[in-house]
Amino acid sequence: MESETAKNAVLERLESIRQKLRTACESAGRDPQAVTLMAVTKTVDPELINTAVDAGVHVLGENRVQEFLGKRELYRADAEVQFIGHLQTNKVKQIIDKVSMIQSVDSLHLAEAIDRAAEHAGLRMPVLLEVNIGGELSKSGVSPAELPALLRDVQQLPCIEVRGLMTIPPPAADPAEQDAVFAEMAALYREMQNEAPLSVLSMGMSGDYESAARHGSTMVRIGSALFGARYYPPKL
Ligand SMILES: *Cc1c(COP(=O)(O)O)cnc(C)c1O
Repeated sequence: MESETAKNAVLERLESIRQKLRTACESAGRDPQAVTLMAVTKTVDPELINTAVDAGVHVLGENRVQEFLGKRELYRADAEVQFIGHLQTNKVKQIIDKVSMIQSVDSLHLAEAIDRAAEHAGLRMPVLLEVNIGGELSKSGVSPAELPALLRDVQQLPCIEVRGLMTIPPPAADPAEQDAVFAEMAALYREMQNEAPLSVLSMGMSGDYESAARHGSTMVRIGSALFGARYYPPKL
């Protein structure tokens, strides 16, 4: 059982994040409603996750297939789950009918596996293409140079619907650099909107969501700022 103190801490952090998001959006002339707050659930107790869902956070982000499959039955029914972690092609089948979007598509190979699994399950899967905007420091994601070709190829797949872009920028040295990276990502997103009807730009995490919101993010993915620092039990 999670204590009332732990639940109240989540509610207080949530209020503070919402306030900061509102301020960030308003400072950039954006409608705060245009930014969805996703709760990132890795390592978090389902009871605390449901505390956030009860308070109006309806989109949950999952990183790990096994952890997700073990916890999903415990989530409130009005929570929708999106997959945001690195996904191996042989695990796609396990999640295809349990998530409403896969945000981490960074190769045609993975997209084809999702397309096949979606066809088999009789559905069409919304996806985001993950972009490695920071260059070599981050390992996952397609480079901006390779993005147009990947977008074109994935759009040909019948059981996939490309909804937008996702990025995890490397930690920035200072706020100006952080702003520059998000501005670059927003420009790339606008450019790709000429190629496809994209409506989701998923960028911004606990340490940088205000900057991301000022630069046009439509979804921030927040873990530790909402649930507290993650605790990874030592491997036995
Ligand atoms: C863990 C994770 C987040 C959230 O990270 P915090 O810094 O704790 O907010 C967001 N996106 C992805 C893809 C993640 O793996």
